[in-house]
Parts: sequence; structure tokens; C-alpha cells
Amino acid sequence: MRYSRYLMPTTKETPSDAEVVSHRLMLRAGLLRKVASGIYNYMPAGLRVLRKVERILREEMDAAGAMEVLMPAVVPSELWKESGRWDAYGKELLRFKDRADREFCLGPTHEEVVTDLVRREVRSYRQLPITLYQIQDKFRDEIRPRFGLMRGREFFMKDAYSFDADEEGATESYKKMYDAYCRIFRRMGLDFRAVEADTGNIGGSSSHEFMVIADSGEDAIVSCSSCSYGANVEKAECLSPGATLSGKGNGGAKEGAPRKVATPGKRTIEEVSTFLAIDPATLIKTLLFETSVGDVAVLVSGAHEVNEVKVKNHLGAEFVRLAGEERVRELTGAPSGFAGPVGLAVRTIADYSVRSIASGATGANEKDAHLVDVVPGRDFHPEGYADLRMVSEDDPCPRCGGTLRFSRGIEVGHVFRLGTKYSEAMRAVYLDEGGKERVAVMGCYGIGVGRTAAAAIEQNHDDDGIVWPISIAPFEVGVIPVNLKQTDVMAAAERVAADLDGRGVEVFLDDREERPGIKFKDADLTGIPVRITLGEKNVAAGFGEIRDRKTGETSRIPLKELANEAFALVERKKAECAP
Ligand code: ATP
Ligand code: MG
Repeated sequence: MRYSRYLMPTTKETPSDAEVVSHRLMLRAGLLRKVASGIYNYMPAGLRVLRKVERILREEMDAAGAMEVLMPAVVPSELWKESGRWDAYGKELLRFKDRADREFCLGPTHEEVVTDLVRREVRSYRQLPITLYQIQDKFRDEIRPRFGLMRGREFFMKDAYSFDADEEGATESYKKMYDAYCRIFRRMGLDFRAVEADTGNIGGSSSHEFMVIADSGEDAIVSCSSCSYGANVEKAECLSPGATLSGKGNGGAKEGAPRKVATPGKRTIEEVSTFLAIDPATLIKTLLFETSVGDVAVLVSGAHEVNEVKVKNHLGAEFVRLAGEERVRELTGAPSGFAGPVGLAVRTIADYSVRSIASGATGANEKDAHLVDVVPGRDFHPEGYADLRMVSEDDPCPRCGGTLRFSRGIEVGHVFRLGTKYSEAMRAVYLDEGGKERVAVMGCYGIGVGRTAAAAIEQNHDDDGIVWPISIAPFEVGVIPVNLKQTDVMAAAERVAADLDGRGVEVFLDDREERPGIKFKDADLTGIPVRITLGEKNVAAGFGEIRDRKTGETSRIPLKELANEAFALVERKKAECAP
């Protein structure tokens, strides 16, 4: 490819609305242009990157025995009504009508469509297991599209769906996809972790997210420094503590009653615990939620935070949201900051951390007042105790008791064990060996193509620009003739480019009439892994230069050897991206 004929418009300016480095660099390197919020044009070099990601996805999906299909972006509402998600999915689902007033949506994920396909085509246990995948344009009307390809509204996803005769088979299909995902991200040269995750909108019994480790990641994850446990903090389990804590007061006596104390203007955990001179861990924090199953008060120790995902799952609710000031007043008779479980006529659930408070303090459901000497089980009775809080720095690993490390990650892939959620609702059944009708057991598996490319940049860049892992770089070798007017410089550049091209290397020849400084800056910015520079003096002396974009290592090589050496470096870099 020749730069003079190629549309890769690089810019020096940092785009003002790009908050993360991958977004900035994709714009600056001419890979991406915005059309509307979360909707983009992929420029030629950007598209080359996405195609390379897709190629790796296809190779690994095919190798794992999955079959490629292509399903439509436009999906009729009937299928989504059958699964029950038409009502459950919320505003991320872009819905519209055709000219005959029939309802459709743009598919944000394709469980319904693929389940419909399989129930029509698969009749017998002999046809199972089957895994279908596609690489297709998804639409999600994200509330906050941002970070470029990281969180777009229209984006490419590789989504795969497995159908098995039973749980055992489903476990095997899940394992195959999990292993394929590990190979995929290793082939892209990424530092990643597979962690336990919540199943969210998709549903199912369990799931793993594949996280690329990066400080800019939107997700917080924990991983054990001793064993292989890792989890999204949304999911990370907190063990039920054995010890009981005692605040100032009666130490958990059976007799007696709470005492009311004045706490004028003291609302937050910090204000109240300082004012009352008590350990925040003995405060019983009371949060009111409006949920799809009614109002719920959630109790947690003042040393911890409530985990809304756990609350939602515990209640089996479609949504939970913190009640606003107005609703808090209606439910407790007091402004927020003074809620407490004693005498509260609202369904109440409590985190394990509350059970271990022998005697604590809590809001009195009255402005400017709290109760002390409050004993759980004596003064209030939650419906039950459960793990409802966020994991904290002090928590041990729930598997081995080891130390948990916190880090941030970008979710690039997600695998789910779906069970029979969709196959049951949509009657995807088959006949078993005995001729008995049975429901297929499903799994689903997604990877964001653009998000993965963006995550690769988050992990591989420096002050000068992108440092592509070679397996997903738009080109493998950049050739820079420093001065086009020098015929032997240009001839040497053409020669080495043609030689490498003949060996199947993807060469990008910067034949623009630009100053050398600009060419070098653009080469660094666009991140092509290997650079060959042909300068006037070197060429006159029979030499050229090879530079490794990642290490900055430069070597002066005889012209005759230039293609061989560059080829060898490309091969070494490819070997670094081995699965
Ligand atoms: P998130 O929590 O980040 O919104 P999700 O859990 O909704 O992601 P899935 O439904 O599991 O995502 O989708 C599978 C994959 O699709 C994700 O792992 C991610 O790589 C990609 N993906 C999801 N939403 C987007 C988006 N808005 N833009 C780009 N890629 C996305
Ligand atoms: Mg999402």
C-alpha cells in the first residue's frame, strides 16, 4: 500500500471529546471518524484492524467446531415477546415500526433469533451438540456512549450460541468456548484475565468475563494472589463473617431497648460515627430501594457499601434503584440520612455484616435523631441475611482465604451458561434416544470486535502513539524513503517493499512528499510494528535501517539483507502472539 494513495488522515491535535487514549489515538491515527454519538465510520486502516481481529475470531471459532451463520440486525418483536425480553430489556433496545405498523428492534444480542433458527432445524439428539456463531452489527442504545469503540451504540460483535442435549454437554461446550477465548486474546498479545461475572440482561446461571487489564477499564475486578479465583466486583463473593462486633452500649444483651439520641444534621456514616464516637462498622446503614418487586430496605454495616447487583439477584427483581428523597420521606417519615430498621414498615433484608453487629446504631426514622444500643434480632427482624455488599480490601479470597488484589479491566468478552432460559420459553426441543421430547441446554458467548481493538491500544501505546501487537496491526512493515527525489533511495525502498510483499508481508510505503520528521511521527503514531528507513547517506553507503516500534531498537543493515532481517523480525513478533 502506498500512503500517497491511501486515506489515513493523521492529526496532531488531541480531539477534545476523547477521554481515553485509545479513542484519541484512533482518531489521531486516522482509523476512525464519528458520524453521531456512538456511531462511526471505520476508515481504511481502522477497518483493516477490525478485519484482523475478525480473522482470529473466525479461525478460533472454526477450530472449536462452531459454524458461522449470519443473522439479521432487524429483528421482529414477536421473538422478543416469546422470550419475555421485549418488556424486560429497557431503553437500550432500539424499537421501531415498519410501514405496516409491525414492531421490530435492532438486535443488541441474538439469543431469540438463534433459538428460533435452531428450534426449526434441529429435531433429534443426533444433531446435537451444535454451536453457531456470527460476526455482526449490533445496536444498543447505550445511555452513555463514550470512549470511541469501547462503548459505541452500533458495533460489531462476534456472538456464538451453543445447544446441547444436557447439562453435561453444555458444560463441555462452555469449556470449549472458554478455551477458544483464551487462545483468541493470547493471539492478540493481550494481558487478560477471565473472571466470574453477573449474568445481567442476558440471564442464565453463571458466566465469565474476559477482562483486559487496564487502568482506564470501566470494570473493577478482584483476583486472588494465591489461587485462580477472579471476579468482577459486582459478583465477588463476601464470606459471611463469624465474629460479632459490639458498639458502645449493652454488648448484645437480650434485655433493654434502643435509646434515641439527638444527631442534628448528621446524615452520613462519617458524620454520625464521629459525632457518636462509635466504630462505623457498628452503624446499621439503611438504604431504601424502589424495585420491580416493591419497596425494599437493605441493611449493611457502615463499614461497607451495598452491592445493587447482589440485591437485584437476591430479590429476583428486574430492576432496583435507590429511592429518591421524596420516596424516602414517604417510607420513613424522615429526610434521608435518618432511616433505620426499627419500626420500619418496609420489607427489609440485611447483609451478613449486620448479623455480626451485637449492638449498634441506626437512624430513628425521625429528623435529626438516631438510635443506639440497637440489637439485630431483638429490635428488628430482617426477612433474611445474605451477601449483599461490595467486596472490600479487607476481604479474604472466598475460595482459599488468600489476599485479594484489586485492578481495573476492560470487558472484551463474556461467556454465559444459559441453561434452558431461552429454549424453555421458546420451545427449542429435540427428541432424545427414547423418542422423548427434551429442551436443549444453551450457552452464549460474545466478543466485541471494536472494543477489543480499543483495549489493545489501551494496553499497547506510548507517548508517541499506538504500538500494535503485530497480529492486529493494520500493516506489518512501514517503509520510509526519507527523500523521494533521490532515485536510489526511492529504488531501494521500492525494492525492499516488493521483496517483503512477495513474501506475504503487509507493507505500507510512505511515498508522500512530506518532511522526514512528519513521516517518522506518523509512523510512530499509527504504530506499524516494524519500520524500515532509507536515508540518503545510508543508501549511498549500501545500508538501510530497521526499527522496532515497541522497543525502539534500531539497527543498520546492508541493503541486500534488509528484507531478510525485516522478515525475521516480523516472524519473531508473530511468534510473540502465539496462542
Ligand atoms: P457492558 O457491561 O460493558 O455494557 P455487556 O455486559 O453489556 O457489556 P455483553 O452483552 O456481554 O456486554 O456483550 C458481549 C461483548 O460485546 C462485550 O464483552 C463487549 O466486548 C461487547 N460490547 C458490549 N456492549 C458494547 C458497546 N456498547 N460497544 C462496544 N462493544 C460492546
Ligand atoms: Mg452493556
